[in-house]
Amino acid sequence: MAALSGCEGGCACGTVRYRLTSEPLFIHCCHCLNCQRQTGSAFVINLLLETDRVEVLTGEPQPVDVPRDDGTAQRIFRCPSCQVAVFSEYGWPELRFVRGGTLDQPSAATPDVHIFTKSKLAWVELPDNTPAFEVYYDSRTLWPAASLERLDAILALRAERGDS
Ligand SMILES: [Zn+2]
Ligand SMILES: [Zn+2]
Repeated sequence: MAALSGCEGGCACGTVRYRLTSEPLFIHCCHCLNCQRQTGSAFVINLLLETDRVEVLTGEPQPVDVPRDDGTAQRIFRCPSCQVAVFSEYGWPELRFVRGGTLDQPSAATPDVHIFTKSKLAWVELPDNTPAFEVYYDSRTLWPAASLERLDAILALRAERGDS
C-alpha cells in the first residue's frame, strides 16, 4: 500500500481542503448500484478512516442525506460552493469514507478490495491480485492487524456511548 498518511485532497473549487493524518484502515472499490448512481460512474473508491484522522484544513463540507435502495440514507459531505462530494458516512459518525478521486494524487490509493461486483459493469476488468466479492466481506479476515485494532477502538467507543 502506498503511503497515504499526510496526503491531501479537496474539492474542485479549492474551498474544501483536507489531510489524512493516518494510513486508511482499508480501501474499498465499490461497484454497487448506489455508488454508481451517486457518482454517475462505474464505481467509487472509498478510503476508510476514523473521522478524527481526516483533518479538514479549509472549508466546511456540508452533509447531504442521500437515499439508498435499502431505505437507509447515506450522508455525503459536499463542498458548499462547488458541491463536489469529498467524503461520506454510512451510519457511523466515527468513520469517514473519503472519496479517492478527490485526493491531489488519486493514483496513491489502490483498492484493497472490490465489493458488490454483482453489479460491476461488464467492461470493468478487475486485477487478479485484489480480493473481490459479489456483495460484502468480513473485515476480520481481510484487514491488517493494525487496522483491526483501530476498528476495535471505534467499536469500544460506540459501545461506551450505547450505539450498536
Ligand atoms: Zn468546492
Ligand atoms: Zn457502493
